[in-house]
Amino acid sequence: MYLGAHLSISQGYRSAVTAALEIGGNTFQFFTRNPRGGRAKKIDSRDVEQSIKLCQSFGFGPLIGHAPYTINLASPTERTREFAIMALKEDLVRIKSVGAAYLAVHPGSHVGDGIDRGLTRIIEGLNRVFSDLDLPALDGVMLLLEGMAGEGSEIGNLFEQLNCIRRGIKYQDRVGVILDTCHLYAAGYDIKNNLNQVLESFDRAVGLEHLKAFHINDSKYPLGSRRDRHANLGEGYLGLDFFIKFIRHPLIQELPLILETPGDITVYANEIAFLRSAIKRDQ
Ligand SMILES: [Zn+2]
Repeated sequence: MYLGAHLSISQGYRSAVTAALEIGGNTFQFFTRNPRGGRAKKIDSRDVEQSIKLCQSFGFGPLIGHAPYTINLASPTERTREFAIMALKEDLVRIKSVGAAYLAVHPGSHVGDGIDRGLTRIIEGLNRVFSDLDLPALDGVMLLLEGMAGEGSEIGNLFEQLNCIRRGIKYQDRVGVILDTCHLYAAGYDIKNNLNQVLESFDRAVGLEHLKAFHINDSKYPLGSRRDRHANLGEGYLGLDFFIKFIRHPLIQELPLILETPGDITVYANEIAFLRSAIKRDQ
């Protein structure tokens, strides 16, 4: 099983791999560029080479880059959309060159313009991203649309919206989905009591074969609150019993699982240890 956390690459990729190992992980997620700004650091090819070697020797699972929060393909503002397209193109290339597999992206917010217009803009934007890229050179790299809590005018809280985007674009084989336990619960999907039913409804709407990874977070707000506030495992509305059930699900065990809980390396180490022990524990 591939477990990890969102880690900083400010000291380079190699040190992020070392940090992942320190917390008992065998994958991790990182921001492709400043999450609230948009500038990206230059890639140090020696650092990347060493990091890829380390990942291989420790049997790491797929690494995930997370696009900055400033990306909004659904924005009514043209400049914002143009920045999003430019940054996603660059980041997909970056993902490939650092040996990562996935680029997680928030679909976008329509900012009052309506869900349909927002969806259309996201589809047009993604078509432009992929049509401008040398796709054979990016073999093995996928963009993952993230399932959202549905805060404000966020698009992507409903499985049908994620499917509409995926189906709408010309490059479907390059686009998958990443879900988040906190976002699902906040969006109104009761994974705490009906995990199987939620997964089945995802299968009907999108197809489980397109689900590529999961963010593992407890939720500070209740079911259907549409508030995206991550809590530490056991300290939110989902609770430890849910995460024990979740981690034991055969379908979940096949996916890279990334913690985005509050806290530092020590907290992540404890949470990963808890998840690993939950698998072994007697029923
Ligand atoms: Zn995210």
